[in-house]
Amino acid sequence: MGETSAVEIDAWLCDGGIVVTASERAARSLALAFSRGRRAEGLTAWSTPKIQDWHSFARAAWDERDLDGRVVLSPIQEQSLWVRIVAHAAPEAVQLAGAGDRLAALAMNAHHLLCDYAPQLLKDNARVGWDQDAGAFSGWLTAFNDLCRAGQFISAARLPLELIAELEADTARRPPLLLAGFDRILPTQQTLFAAWSADNGVHEAPLGAAAEQVEFHFAADPPAELAACALWAEAQLAADPHVRLLVITQDARKRRGEIERGFLRILSANENSLDAAKLLEFSLGVPLGHVALARGAQLLLRWLGDAIAENELDWLLSTDQVAASPDESRALTAYMRDLRRRGLQRPRWRLEEFLRQRAHVELPAEWTARMTQAQQRLQEFARRPQTPLAWAEILPQLLEMAGWPGAKRRNRTSAEEQAFRRWHETVEACASLGFDGRRIAWSDFLSALDRVADETLFAPESQDAPILIAGPAESAGLTADAIWFLGASEDAWPAAGATHPLIPLGVQREARMPHASARLDWDLASAMTRRVLASAPEVHFSYARQSEGVEARPSRLVVQVAGVPQPLTADLAASDHPKPLTVTFDDATQLPYPLRDVSGGANVLTTQSQCPFKAFAMARLDAKEWDAAEAGLTAPERGLLLHEVLHSIWGGPPDGICNHAELVARTDLAAFVEGHVRRVLDNEMPTRARECMPPRYLELEAARLTILVTEWLRYESARVPFTVAGTEVDARPAIADLALKVRLDRIDRLNDDSLLVIDYKSGMVSPSSWDLPRPDDVQLPLYAGFALKDGPESAGGLAFAQIRAGESKEFLGRVKNARATLISGLSAGKAIVKKPLTDEEMRAWRAYIEEMARDFVAGRAEVDPREYPKTCERCGLQALCRIQENPPQAEEENGDAEEAADAR
Ligand code: SF4
Repeated sequence: MGETSAVEIDAWLCDGGIVVTASERAARSLALAFSRGRRAEGLTAWSTPKIQDWHSFARAAWDERDLDGRVVLSPIQEQSLWVRIVAHAAPEAVQLAGAGDRLAALAMNAHHLLCDYAPQLLKDNARVGWDQDAGAFSGWLTAFNDLCRAGQFISAARLPLELIAELEADTARRPPLLLAGFDRILPTQQTLFAAWSADNGVHEAPLGAAAEQVEFHFAADPPAELAACALWAEAQLAADPHVRLLVITQDARKRRGEIERGFLRILSANENSLDAAKLLEFSLGVPLGHVALARGAQLLLRWLGDAIAENELDWLLSTDQVAASPDESRALTAYMRDLRRRGLQRPRWRLEEFLRQRAHVELPAEWTARMTQAQQRLQEFARRPQTPLAWAEILPQLLEMAGWPGAKRRNRTSAEEQAFRRWHETVEACASLGFDGRRIAWSDFLSALDRVADETLFAPESQDAPILIAGPAESAGLTADAIWFLGASEDAWPAAGATHPLIPLGVQREARMPHASARLDWDLASAMTRRVLASAPEVHFSYARQSEGVEARPSRLVVQVAGVPQPLTADLAASDHPKPLTVTFDDATQLPYPLRDVSGGANVLTTQSQCPFKAFAMARLDAKEWDAAEAGLTAPERGLLLHEVLHSIWGGPPDGICNHAELVARTDLAAFVEGHVRRVLDNEMPTRARECMPPRYLELEAARLTILVTEWLRYESARVPFTVAGTEVDARPAIADLALKVRLDRIDRLNDDSLLVIDYKSGMVSPSSWDLPRPDDVQLPLYAGFALKDGPESAGGLAFAQIRAGESKEFLGRVKNARATLISGLSAGKAIVKKPLTDEEMRAWRAYIEEMARDFVAGRAEVDPREYPKTCERCGLQALCRIQENPPQAEEENGDAEEAADAR
């Protein structure tokens, strides 16, 4: 609708006429435009304009004439009937979680398509000959018709059909209608409008004049295209703050986050980000189940009766929705932190498991009492199935008992208040599931609530933001001062789609259902494009020439109306280097480390070498990344068990062995190892794993560990004779005033009386990580250089014992004379032979490690990753150092791959 059409609609409404729009959004938009018009006339009050969207119009007309008292099914009620029908007719097809709901939604959608396009096929005897999936659906539709007849129900999609007969029988004169924002009028709508007024009292608002300025741009890729659109919007707003802009995009729901970020990046340059956010509004809402308050309530309710995932629990505790006060909130997060620090994380948590953990931090007593009370109340109530109404009534009581929504009880924003109300309406909608007298379990009621909340789109009331973002279909009936249409490529416009799998293709083609043929898609897209061109005086189309590595061509349809696309002009091209979000300055501040002792062992100086800030954050601020909970043993837990088994084996008499001779003398090696594995698993298996894992899993873990260690010992039995000088050896090296506590996995005395420092590794390792000038790891050089009782001169080598399942097991490292002291049969090409340990190397490592210690003590903490972004990828402190906001320039390849190859 351009200016002419908008004026006509306004005049129609001012005369008290009724306007019917294609969508709710178009109705809201017209109501806002009407209010703006009256305000512009200087009025302060006016009558509500008579604007109804199609569905409200049909429902209101039905309600006026309803004579037989049938219940009009809400969408959730109708879907529940389809779920029941599908589950009964195809029990094998709904075995997987959610499959029944999806199939029922598909069947319901097919039913609605028939209502809109081919109502003659709703009669059961009109579908003879439908076979396969369509035949199955036909049977379900017959069952649906029977259920509706027996229960005196009617689907909302059938109201227009029944209204047609009523209107045709009633010859009374009805008020004329003006239709606005219809890209196409569906067959059932056409029949109903004809029946509404036989004397042509239904008019369609004509399209306004076509835009005077139409341009078609191409950009290099989607980010450049989005940036151009945002720059254009920014310039329009700068020229006229009252301008109204409409941005049309395919996949508006899927691209919402990307579009929001793209616009805010540009708009925040001149506004603070909160004000910039107010300039944007999306036509489509987000699923209510994704809105924080609704999600919090649903997670809490689920937690009272079942386990929730650990990340869901983290989220719930972090939102303050279950904490009555900031103190309670802090205590809850401290409790969770303590569980993690002690390795007690688990993938899913039941409330009772969470409450009975013996953490070093107390749970708030009042919180525990509230949650326990709410859980007990639910358990009492859930002993037998209840009506959905009864569940909906107890639900607020449970939330109240648990203290939800905690801190959000006060100071809710307007949008939160609206979400809160909408969620309660959703609960009430679920209560109506008892319309057919059924009783259901608590879990079924919660599943229905989750589904409905996910299907309900929530958008806070329009704030009449100057930039509105909508999909092509949702933009019907919207007008603006200027429009930008994103994604006008050949593949995307006309938008292609799939035909419906439950309706025969021939029926869909004949009834001209959506996507039944390329011609239909083209015709609809043409109508939409014409409507877009008539909805603003200035219209821009754009497309990206390349997306995800695939070349794209411009939409032929758009080329017809807007000409050949042109490159973006300079004012629409975003800078390759966006303005950094952070302000950089040279920070020479250094806070010297006041203590001599530090926890973290050699890792303190390894991290100082990797990135000084990482060492500062981990050793001084105690910051660290959480290990994600896993269903089985975590990698560190597996590593710990491996260390314990090897410690037990090499621990000497009475149960273990302590030299090569004793090892080769063992004829029962596998049984010997198995005994140690069982002893270690009995004593050292984490409680969490014991509680969560079935005994069979633990058996398999024991078998796996036995095989792994046996294979390793077989490798060691081929060594030159040695003696184990110590395992799990504690040492307190002092390096440049820094006292470290370290534990060496093992020290072997070799046949030349020198010492081999060994570190067990079950992950991938490479001695190239020790390479100067800036090692990635200094652990073993530090042990060899500072932790040996007889000094660094006693070191004959340092080596990783790589003990990985499925990989070759071997020593990797530096040894002074590997063939003479370690394994005589080593090939000359092995790195451990080619690159022997030298005294110069030891001296250089010592000097470097002392320098790292001095830097740490001096408080050097600059954000300076050794190799960006690789070093950062395995760090986990990005939120603290904010490296992404100010990344270092990429460095040249440093030949690591070659070195790694050499090291083998
Ligand atoms: S993420 Fe990178 S820059 Fe940040 S602390 Fe870790 S290593 Fe340093």
